[in-house]
Amino acid sequence: MRYVLAIDQGTTSTRAILFEEAGQPGPAAVVPLTQIYPAPGQVEHDPEEIWNAVLNVCRTVLGEVGADAVAAVGITNQRETTVVWDRATGRPLHNAIVWQDRRTAPLCAELEGEGWAPHVAETTGLIIDPYFSATKLAWLLSHVPGLAARAAAGEVCFGTIDSYLLFRLTNGALHGTDATNAARTMLFDIGKGAWDAALLERLDIPPAMLPEVRDTQGDFGMTAAEHFGVGLPIRGVAGDQQAAAHGQACVRPGMVKATYGTGCFVVANTADQKVASATRMLSTILSQRAGARTFALEGAIFMAGATIQWLRDNLGLIESAEESEALARSADPNSGVYLVPAFQGLGAPFWDADAKAAIVGMSRAASRADVVAAGLESVAFQTRDLLSAMRHDMGATGIDATGTLRVDGGMTANGWAMQRLADILGEAVEVAAILETTSLGAAYFAGQAVGFYGDNATLAETWTPARVYEPAMGAAEREARYAGWLEAVDRVRSREG
Ligand code: ADP
Repeated sequence: MRYVLAIDQGTTSTRAILFEEAGQPGPAAVVPLTQIYPAPGQVEHDPEEIWNAVLNVCRTVLGEVGADAVAAVGITNQRETTVVWDRATGRPLHNAIVWQDRRTAPLCAELEGEGWAPHVAETTGLIIDPYFSATKLAWLLSHVPGLAARAAAGEVCFGTIDSYLLFRLTNGALHGTDATNAARTMLFDIGKGAWDAALLERLDIPPAMLPEVRDTQGDFGMTAAEHFGVGLPIRGVAGDQQAAAHGQACVRPGMVKATYGTGCFVVANTADQKVASATRMLSTILSQRAGARTFALEGAIFMAGATIQWLRDNLGLIESAEESEALARSADPNSGVYLVPAFQGLGAPFWDADAKAAIVGMSRAASRADVVAAGLESVAFQTRDLLSAMRHDMGATGIDATGTLRVDGGMTANGWAMQRLADILGEAVEVAAILETTSLGAAYFAGQAVGFYGDNATLAETWTPARVYEPAMGAAEREARYAGWLEAVDRVRSREG
């Protein structure tokens, strides 16, 4: 038996999974990752801890089958998180600044004030935000003593987590990254496929510290023999959401995947079109092969599973997330209750930062079950908001984006919520059979490069969901419910919104 080794370096954990040639998961190992909070709004990771975790999980799974059985290695990772390290030793020169970290909000405001937003949107496909690596790197260069001078002298490497792992795995033979990860730095021109000189200059980032950008599927060199006994070929690297989309075989134009965890990430394949969004959705790279880029449109829902956590932890209406399903089934289908979880304002497509959450439409008969059902249903409504906006953007570019939604993540265990999602969207919802879609996507990318899994067309044909939810609600009820949601959203909007 031969395997592909998938390394998934995530925000809260690091895992390795061996996938068989048929795509089935085999031995797996996972270790949690320490979250470092130096100050409110700041989140860091220790790159050395990450590297040791990668070595450990890989050695654990390779111990079960032998490193010789591995045909290729694929890497997927938390995106945007920023690392700087010493080119000579590979040692990190600061903790990694994690994507969630907001310390660079003032610099982002400065860039906004200087009028950089149109340039950033046009070249990088992104909106100016502390999420992305650019301002984090600028912060490191201006706050770590001596770093800027050493970087200018070529002694320092910058990279996202994939880049750091590639450097360590190859013992410094490759300072590289892939196009999907480069696309999240806010320094990369996704149309041209090159670092953007204007942004580098504005942020005083020496080009000498940037990684070489390679195809998502391709040659990233060999792991140094000392790590796993033999050298293993690294053949695929992709950011986590892009890997998940590939793990869901979203390989055709217009195909969409949504991952329902704490938040929800939606990614749509827009083929060779870099789609400009009318509602501040992100335009990004889905993958790059043989130098040709496939693009994606990406949107997020802040509160998906987090709404269920709030019902559990703040209101105490449920003891566990699982309990929400049985309760929702017992709710009054005509309660008229809506929960708008605008706890962090309203995101796409409304973008109203000052909106506040609310439960509306309650009569004296409203019950705990009705409120919990409204919480689950809010995830379906928010998905429809987001998908409608995305499909509008795609339609404007001539991409046919109707069809099916592919889903994964913790919330997909909830059958009521998934059925309601299909009902509110009026389209089928397909639940992934292998829930580790992110790792699977990394395995697909790397495996395809060495003859596993077939080409993308084969992947699309052979991919089978664990379960399909077909819409069962009539159009009149669907539209009435959705109209009620939009009315509820209207009631929580801020005056200026
Ligand atoms: P993350 O990767 O963001 O930690 P997961 O994919 O592990 O998220 O999913 C966890 C989230 O899914 C939690 O927010 C939890 O509330 C929600 N969740 C898990 N199981 C259920 C369920 N049966 N019904 C509703 N929500 C659920």
